[in-house]
Amino acid sequence: MVQIVEPRHPVSLSDYEGVADLGATVRSLRQEAESRLAGFDGRRLVMVNSTAQGGGVAEMLPALLSILRELGVDTHWLVIETQEQAFFRLTKNLHNLIHGAGDPNLGTPDHAVYDRVSAENAAAMEEFLQPGDVLVVHDPQPMGAGALLREKMDIAAIWRCHIGLDHETAETRAAWGFLDPYLKPYDHAVFTAPEYIPSVLAGRATIIHPAIDPLSHKNRHLQVHDLVGILANSALVKPWGPVISPAYAEPARRLQADGDWAPATEPEDFGLLFRPIVTQISRWDRLKGFFPLMEGFVSLKRGIEARTDLDNHHLRALQLVRLVLAGPDPASVDDDPEGKEVLSELCAAYSALPPHLQADVAILSLPMSSKENNALIVNALQCCSDIVVQNSIQEGFGLTVTEPMWKRAALMASSAVGIKQQVRPDLDGLLIKNPEDPAEIAHGLDALLSDGAKRAAFGRSARQRVHDNFLVFAQVKSWLELLTNTTAACWPNCD
Ligand code: UDP
Repeated sequence: MVQIVEPRHPVSLSDYEGVADLGATVRSLRQEAESRLAGFDGRRLVMVNSTAQGGGVAEMLPALLSILRELGVDTHWLVIETQEQAFFRLTKNLHNLIHGAGDPNLGTPDHAVYDRVSAENAAAMEEFLQPGDVLVVHDPQPMGAGALLREKMDIAAIWRCHIGLDHETAETRAAWGFLDPYLKPYDHAVFTAPEYIPSVLAGRATIIHPAIDPLSHKNRHLQVHDLVGILANSALVKPWGPVISPAYAEPARRLQADGDWAPATEPEDFGLLFRPIVTQISRWDRLKGFFPLMEGFVSLKRGIEARTDLDNHHLRALQLVRLVLAGPDPASVDDDPEGKEVLSELCAAYSALPPHLQADVAILSLPMSSKENNALIVNALQCCSDIVVQNSIQEGFGLTVTEPMWKRAALMASSAVGIKQQVRPDLDGLLIKNPEDPAEIAHGLDALLSDGAKRAAFGRSARQRVHDNFLVFAQVKSWLELLTNTTAACWPNCD
């Protein structure tokens, strides 16, 4: 079964063009498209993935597809569907293996399931495809179907891989060994970082970075009243005056001393609008490094009294600074038992803190029932943070780094592969060497809290870096280039 999805994206290129610092970028994109599209011969671009909603890929496709459409590429989006649980168990395992985890014992029965579902999906997709189409297949789930169609039809096929590990392990070898026969027919592959290209694809792969949409609810500019309204509506601040918009159906919740969750204004306003704030927002995943971050922050606070090197301003910053650790409402991640486990361990670590340190740390559960409200809350939290941290032990790319960089927050992050793609050390942010070392984390936070000029310089540079490289327009440009190159290679005799 295959579903044809209409990308819903409420803004057009002229909306972006109206934003002061985006006008020139959009104009240059239009020019690039005009010169490149002659080489694309009016072909159709058909993208296929395995879900229309949820997950980073589905999040990114609507803006990418609608901008390509507006530029004149006849673009379509297919989603493969199957009832076979064994298929999704297998592709989930392949996903984990590519990240270096999972069960590497793959055998004939796994190929049988994968081949059967791929053949069904290929048959359903064939009804939609036409000779001359360029097919872009996202991640391992639809890869087999795309390979069959590339062998059977006069189409070009590109495989877009959104995952990866920067070194080989028995697990990654098992995954790439399994996928190798399905990869062979593809004309080209696309990865997020050069470190992720497996040896089987060396010489046949290009890098295209993920990107953010500057007019999305998560990244659009918030006027002061919007920002305060969002914080008030989500119970992140106690409004001391009337607010136009009604409270959100679900508030952000803060972990309380007794282990319960209550609206985040309990037991008192956390001070988001007045105090120095350090924030990390991520899924509740062990690899995001929440534990050492909390430990590092706590040791910074514990060390204040013994310090003799502090001027008044620095001392005041350390006394007032508070830490926000935010992630999705655990009720919304029923399919993520590991996430629940990590959160409950974090809650236990919080409960073990003395009351005065509990007051300085907020573990926040963000409501997920409204995607728009969730995005606005993430936006608002990033906006009122002096320092945004991404202390990941591993990170594929890290949109949670791109988003605050765009908002000019001072970034402190680990040196995980995905983060290094984005942040030039000591220019766009502070990169720490060991995200599992609380002492290094405390030292990094201290250095940033003491130096407002440095924070501002990081923020300015980070915004420009994202503007030039990680907005959706850069992504569209890279795709236009790849599409025309692939077309020229597959159909060399067409002008
Ligand atoms: N995110 C969110 N709400 C949360 C936690 C995370 O909307 O409570 C978003 C975050 O803003 C980012 C995405 O989830 O856009 C996470 O993407 P990233 O590439 O940073 O990491 P991943 O979760 O894919 O490992």
